[in-house]
Amino acid sequence: MKRKGILIIVSGFSGAGKGTLVKKLLEEYDGYALSISATTRKPRPGEEDGREYFFLEKEQFERRIAEDGLIEYACYCENYYGTPREYVERQLAEGKDVILEIEIQGALKVKKQYEDALLLFVMPPSAGELKRRLVGRGTETGEVIAKRMCRAAEEAEGIEAYDYIVVNDDLQTCVRQLHEIITAAHHTPLRNKEFIENIRTELEGEK
Ligand code: ADP
Ligand code: 5GP
Repeated sequence: MKRKGILIIVSGFSGAGKGTLVKKLLEEYDGYALSISATTRKPRPGEEDGREYFFLEKEQFERRIAEDGLIEYACYCENYYGTPREYVERQLAEGKDVILEIEIQGALKVKKQYEDALLLFVMPPSAGELKRRLVGRGTETGEVIAKRMCRAAEEAEGIEAYDYIVVNDDLQTCVRQLHEIITAAHHTPLRNKEFIENIRTELEGEK
């Protein structure tokens, strides 16, 4: 039986550790592909075009929307972010589990298009620790950190739309939990429709 890829959405408040977790997941386990998003946000020091994001001007981004080149897009803290369609569909067809590290509005749009998408939400151990991580990362100004903390409070209202939450306290434990949840998700009837139908047909033939 050919393994079918699952579309996995990893959301969570800015600074919760999504980027760190996903990087480790890809390093430690096989079978995953990471979708690189397009954004109009300016690169942070050390970020490279085509590695963390495809950094686009607003006009270029709007052209991608018009061409239907994005599975979803959203506006987050005054910038556009979106998921390029072609890469995701190709990797899924090849049986890879494709990870989208995206915020909640985008997650809900994907869920409408892909009924078997798996929605995971990364939580910090506490709000105080979230702020410490955002400040400690040292990539945003105080003003941007304040905006992202406000946005976290809004996003917290939507957590029930997700299938699972994971708490990123000890990094290694959290990476293992993510992988275990994804492994289990491969075994639900919804994600094995074809196999189940085939067995049913065979059983009819054996009567
Ligand atoms: P996000 O992608 O969710 O915005 P990052 O992966 O950039 O978050 O992590 C935010 C900061 O928190 C980074 O400085 C990272 O090194 C740190 N961090 C991530 N996970 C942990 C953890 N389990 N314990 C302590 N610090 C962490
Ligand atoms: P950051 O600026 O910290 O890299 O990302 C800000 C937020 O945008 C994060 O919550 C991140 O998950 C989200 N994000 C990144 N790429 C995408 C995308 O393609 N679509 C959507 N909807 N959100 C994204």
